[in-house]
Amino acid sequence: MDAFDLSLIVPCYNEQGNILPFYDLARKTLDGTGVRYELVFIDDGSADGTLEALKSLCERTGEDAPAGDRAVQVISFSRNFGKESAIYAGLQNARGACLGIIDADLQQDPAIALEMYRYLQDHSDCDMVAAYQEQRREGALLGWFKRVFYRTFNATADEISLPPNMSDFRVFRRIVADALLQMPEYLRFSKGLFSWVGFKMHAMPYTVRQRHEGKSTWSFPRLMKYAMDGILSFTTWPLKMAKWIGGISFVAAFLYLLYVLVVDYLIRGIAIPGYPTLVCLILLFGGLQLLVLGIMGEYMAREYLEVKRRPIYLTRERYDSLS
Ligand code: UDP
Ligand code: MG
Repeated sequence: MDAFDLSLIVPCYNEQGNILPFYDLARKTLDGTGVRYELVFIDDGSADGTLEALKSLCERTGEDAPAGDRAVQVISFSRNFGKESAIYAGLQNARGACLGIIDADLQQDPAIALEMYRYLQDHSDCDMVAAYQEQRREGALLGWFKRVFYRTFNATADEISLPPNMSDFRVFRRIVADALLQMPEYLRFSKGLFSWVGFKMHAMPYTVRQRHEGKSTWSFPRLMKYAMDGILSFTTWPLKMAKWIGGISFVAAFLYLLYVLVVDYLIRGIAIPGYPTLVCLILLFGGLQLLVLGIMGEYMAREYLEVKRRPIYLTRERYDSLS
């Protein structure tokens, strides 16, 4: 039997002001529901007082709940490895029959996580419940970029499609977590991985709240890089583009050669002054070749990161209210 009914994985990066409010809210929501739960906090190399706050929570829980009907685990990374790595660490260490992922900044309500858990209890044919944002709270430009991203991703991805507006805010059975852990890739794009593993999923609407304290780490350039990584992780289509460009150029060049030889030279008998055409063609094909090389470079860089087989995260300290 699993030690807990539900493990909530909480990635935290510089969230010192949010830890306690989050903990209080989680307790208010989950205590007394009969759900044995644990909170698995991942301190993703925070530079503020996040770890101290987590440590004291862990001690407090050890004293308050010695029987272990609820627990707190803290895994602290040696540096900032990113939210995706934090999720992976959480999956590896969670002890519940069901697992959930929730942000520490109170943008996502633990009550929704409980609702998702209940849904899994009531529907044995469902393996994962994912929350999606009914209305998005973001600027028009960012919203437009996100729509373009989802459209591009879904048009190019080889095996999967991403439903828009879904985040990592989900609750799923252990079988799904085990599947995710079987994918030890270094460059992790959770949304894609969740979709890749399959299983039966249900989508549940929620409204994202304002961040309790601090500000989002997702700057626009970081979001762009993330989008690019996501697309390149799930499609090899750009790599195959070169052969189409090459093939079409070859046929076009051959037809043009025929035209020049037969029509211009043999029939009209003119010597063709082709200097501007030559310059344009050289620039065009030089550019295309560099573009294709660049695309190959993008994939090679990813391959390079993967073959090094570096660990997804390194732990510096860990605490468990049960031990
Ligand atoms: N986070 C993390 N590592 C990072 C960046 C963020 O663990 O390198 C955590 C962060 O503490 C929060 C969650 O991931 O709990 C979501 O981050 P954020 O609120 O910055 O993103 P947003 O809500 O804007 O998507
Ligand atoms: Mg947030």
